[in-house]
Amino acid sequence: MKLVDPIIAFQSELQQIRRDLHAHPELCYEEQRTSDVVAAKLTEWGIPVIRGLGITGVVGIIKNGTSSRSIGLRADMDALPMQEVNTFAHASVHPGKMHACGHDGHTAMLLGAAKHLSEHRNFDGTVYLVFQPAEEGGAGAKRMIEDGLFEHCPMDAIYGMHNWPGIPSGHMSVTEGALMASSNEFYLTVKGKGGHAAQPHKCIDPVMAAVQIAQSWQTIVSRRTNPIDTAVLSLTQFHAGTATNVIPDEAKLSGTVRTLSWDVLDMIEKQMEVVAVNTAAAFGAEVEFKFRRNYPPLINHPEATRFAVEVMKSVIGADKVDDKVEPSMAAEDFAYFLQAKPGCYIFIGNGEGDHREGGHGLGPCVLHNGSYDFNDNLLPVGASFWVKLVEASLPAAA
Ligand SMILES: [Zn+2]
Ligand SMILES: [Zn+2]
Repeated sequence: MKLVDPIIAFQSELQQIRRDLHAHPELCYEEQRTSDVVAAKLTEWGIPVIRGLGITGVVGIIKNGTSSRSIGLRADMDALPMQEVNTFAHASVHPGKMHACGHDGHTAMLLGAAKHLSEHRNFDGTVYLVFQPAEEGGAGAKRMIEDGLFEHCPMDAIYGMHNWPGIPSGHMSVTEGALMASSNEFYLTVKGKGGHAAQPHKCIDPVMAAVQIAQSWQTIVSRRTNPIDTAVLSLTQFHAGTATNVIPDEAKLSGTVRTLSWDVLDMIEKQMEVVAVNTAAAFGAEVEFKFRRNYPPLINHPEATRFAVEVMKSVIGADKVDDKVEPSMAAEDFAYFLQAKPGCYIFIGNGEGDHREGGHGLGPCVLHNGSYDFNDNLLPVGASFWVKLVEASLPAAA
């Protein structure tokens, strides 16, 4: 590995920052303390900051030389509303809140890069260090864009990175095109006519109509989607009725749809409604169908991805880089940035969990698990990658 030496030298400082953030997790748009810590560090290192984009967002700006080229690097800052079961010294001090997705580590890695870039300035152009709130369902990326991120900080490209349990520690993985899925919710109410369960012929049974709709929906993925494409349709809630001898008036279904492309998403949304309306009609029932699109699919730009892959290879070695990683059907709001700017999103391996200190929970070290902890060995790796990506994107005049 060719990590940046000065970053290795302040690894323990980065670890301290990371563990302090881990102990003080804050939820979507409440990242006030985190935002203060980030802004204070950047200021201490001589980096001007813009605050308030996306409520608690912070952007550090490092300009050097005369070039008009620019790059954005993004870290997310928020934690999850769940209980940490680890009991080591840096475990969460806030009951019911936990850094279980490693955003504490993402923030610390980007701070490490910020410190080095400000001290060494071996680049020509502008670096925007984007510390984003509310990735976990709050669409903080979208909010920062709406608040004028790209007007205040007109960057040529933007990159993001997420730790990934299961990928060996310090390895990096990426792929051109779709890396993460769109996430969407659906809600269906089937409206029938309730009555005595012994007199079904005098009722319109919404339960049977809903059962048929639920089954037919499953054929949208298996029969209507091109087998080469990827989609998930999970019906996760089915509610109807209050008594064994009463046919209810209504049945309610809801769940999630994930796709890696817009085309498949458009088709599934339309087809779900067609199936619901017509199946219900066959029973004499009516439906109310709501489909809510949340995060869009995350599509890595091919050229930026290939560029980042070369930088990865130079930092950690080609044998630790996977440039054709299998996409994840989880969602990520970095997708909004990639709709607006070229760039790519990268996974950095968090390992299997052997890095965890004594006192960790007995569960697996996977994202959104109460026994998870970010792997501090990644701090110099991620920070070195960011620095090398900047130096390659904005080369200093020879
Ligand atoms: Zn998460
Ligand atoms: Zn995350």
